[in-house]
Amino acid sequence: SEIFGESRQNSKGVAIDIESEWEVYDAKVQAFMDATWSAGPIINGERLTGDAHTVVAPYDHRLKVGSINWTTPELAKDALSVAAANVDSWRALTAKERGKYLLKLADLLEENLGELVALCHREAGKTIHDSIDEVREAVDFLRYYPIQAEKIEGDLQSFTRFDGQSVTLRREGRGVFTCISPWNFPLAIFIGQISAALVMGNTVVAKPAEQTSLIAFRTIELLLDTGIPAGVIQLLPGSGAAIGSVLTADDSIAGVAFTGSTPAAQRINQSLASREALPVPFIAETGGQNAMLVDSTALPEQVVRDVLRSAFASAGQRCSALRVLYVQQDVADRVIDLIKGAMAEMRIGLPYLHSTDVGPVIDETAQEKLQNHINELFKTSKFIAKAPMKSETRMGTYIAPVAFEIDSISMLSEEHFGPILHVVRYHADELDSVIDDINSAGFGLTLGVHSRNETTYRHIESRAKVGNCYINRDQVGAVVGVQPFGGQGLSGTGPKAGGPHYLYRFTKEEVVA
Ligand code: NAD
Repeated sequence: SEIFGESRQNSKGVAIDIESEWEVYDAKVQAFMDATWSAGPIINGERLTGDAHTVVAPYDHRLKVGSINWTTPELAKDALSVAAANVDSWRALTAKERGKYLLKLADLLEENLGELVALCHREAGKTIHDSIDEVREAVDFLRYYPIQAEKIEGDLQSFTRFDGQSVTLRREGRGVFTCISPWNFPLAIFIGQISAALVMGNTVVAKPAEQTSLIAFRTIELLLDTGIPAGVIQLLPGSGAAIGSVLTADDSIAGVAFTGSTPAAQRINQSLASREALPVPFIAETGGQNAMLVDSTALPEQVVRDVLRSAFASAGQRCSALRVLYVQQDVADRVIDLIKGAMAEMRIGLPYLHSTDVGPVIDETAQEKLQNHINELFKTSKFIAKAPMKSETRMGTYIAPVAFEIDSISMLSEEHFGPILHVVRYHADELDSVIDDINSAGFGLTLGVHSRNETTYRHIESRAKVGNCYINRDQVGAVVGVQPFGGQGLSGTGPKAGGPHYLYRFTKEEVVA
């Protein structure tokens, strides 16, 4: 229950026993894949074919998960036209009417939890508890945004002009939104973007990440099962370069919600600027070079627990994950020793085993990039520790959690999206220059602070330029509705997903006098 927590029950209080029913769920998914399951684009409710791509499980490449048809650029254009044709009728509904489909989808996700968990571990290589969290977060978005949408819709501003005219200011959907999502939260972020856009009265063209299109496909099937008008959501699996660029260069789009790497956001920005149409909102939630500062008053055991979770949970494949740990020199030896000891106890293995702490990285490209960085660190830095890897990982794309001592965050020119921890020692009188170094890296997503001195942690928190600062806890796992999440600088354009102001970005204002 430490692992599963509240997720042992669904929102209706029905107990879910993933552990004992695991084989049933897994068999169900396999049967589902083996049947007619060939996923692909869905336009106006129609399932279409295209270029077939085989999906294999990241933890064992011999296991075929399914096959996905990628969208052609011509189909992407058709999808944009369908989405545009459905804007007016969808926008004419109230937020409550639109939200009812999302609430129904939340129920369907819960009812199909086992199947979705199995799909998340097979296609994305997520551990069972990460997979459950994934579905829970998606459900949270689907229940949270309709509430916020009704509030925004109900918040009509009325004014009386000096001559007695009445004036009303209202908000409504902008039009067609392009939603582009990453593989590391293949359900939660995918549906978070879509639900925000839809509930505010936009229609959507959604392009999931290449690596996790099956989860996206299944989710859209369930969304269509709610009875939502088919023309308001188009699913377009395919490559970012080929399809993403069509969806961001078209004059008809009224906004883009993107989550992914910083370089991809920069390319999308250029694509948007190439249009003849005027600028539209670009919500970009991107990468990080996240640091944690530990001073000499911190509790070492708590630090180690939070460092391990922040740096290595989900194989370090979280945008919020810890990359650079700054430890005050006075306690550095002790903290590093404890980290070493704790890493030796980690279990790296098959994601569906309950004993597994860390599963695979997403694919061979990621594995190779991370391994190259590790090889470089072996040449330039001091090795600290590497977690042991089980032989069962041979057939997958695994990277064992590893830690090195480096001199400064400035040695890292890009985000390394995996279980690699960089440790830097600092002296107490260098605190301000350390904060400056972290700020000058240009990213601004998360920062962790461990200190029992309130003056210190308040000082750090007020000088750091980050979207989310976490004090005396780990720095991953923001919760919808209570921990709005989003970065600044190279980490994003600023909106906070799962927060009360996020939905405003999906609207325009109109005045009637
Ligand atoms: P990615 O940038 O490679 O791809 C993300 C999405 O963008 C994919 O769907 C991809 O096909 C698409 N894409 C790529 N190039 C495109 C282009 N030119 N035009 C249109 N679409 C394009 O990222 P990824 O590897 O899927 O995900 C990992 C990255 O996402 C990491 O950098 C991580 O930090 C970031 N991330 C950020 C957040 C956040 O909230 N800030 C959350 C999760 C992940």
